[in-house]
Amino acid sequence: MEAILLYEGKAKKIFESDKQDEVIINFKDDATAFNAQKKDTFSEKGRVNLAFSRYFFDLLHENGIKTHVISFIDESSMRAKKVDIIPLEVVVRNFAAGSLCRRLGFEKGMALTPPLCEFYLKDDDLNDPILCREHIRYMNTATEEELAYMEQQALRINEIIYSFMDSKGITLVDHKLEFGKTLDGEIILADEISPDTCRFWVKGTMESLDKDVYREDKGDLVGSYKKLADILGLEL
Ligand code: UDP
Repeated sequence: MEAILLYEGKAKKIFESDKQDEVIINFKDDATAFNAQKKDTFSEKGRVNLAFSRYFFDLLHENGIKTHVISFIDESSMRAKKVDIIPLEVVVRNFAAGSLCRRLGFEKGMALTPPLCEFYLKDDDLNDPILCREHIRYMNTATEEELAYMEQQALRINEIIYSFMDSKGITLVDHKLEFGKTLDGEIILADEISPDTCRFWVKGTMESLDKDVYREDKGDLVGSYKKLADILGLEL
């Protein structure tokens, strides 16, 4: 019997599973940037991003962070807790790059101490605008307590991944996280963590080993992801 598709996004398909509170997430091979205006397909992308996600989610689990991951099924799919995604993108930045430089004129690479945590609205039609707390107050997306919890979790996750990557000679410049609410109302980390959702620079340089290679046409995207995997000792 064919599994029922619950949702299809830019990078993932979500299917019903045999359990009411679990789903199967399939990672697609599409690479999109600039809110899907630039679109290509890389044959290995789903597999590669799932392998990175597995690596980072394992690291977070070892450090006591609760996430939606239950198990990995095959090269491009995983079993996860069913959550309602909170329509906010939580971005944590350790150094200025990307939209922060474009919007505020900050110099690329400027250290942000302590790390900056921002919220964006997950809404393609509005181009994922940045939000301040006051805006969120008028939306039904999250309460003040939930926002504070997501911020605290995001900063802790940042600390864990930043120090781990630093020990491998890689700088975590910034990253985007998404949280979801389980059927019993608990907020947990969801979505993925990969070089599609993080900026990684070779320490002491601004050499990108992430999606900027594709966004900025700087060369071979899959090759850069493989270089990062090699540094991490991750088999792709
Ligand atoms: N990011 C993401 N999905 C988005 C927007 C941003 O995963 O829809 C990640 C991006 O890869 C980077 C961080 O969030 O690691 C901050 O992105 P930024 O706001 O600088 O936007 P960009 O320059 O990617 O447009």
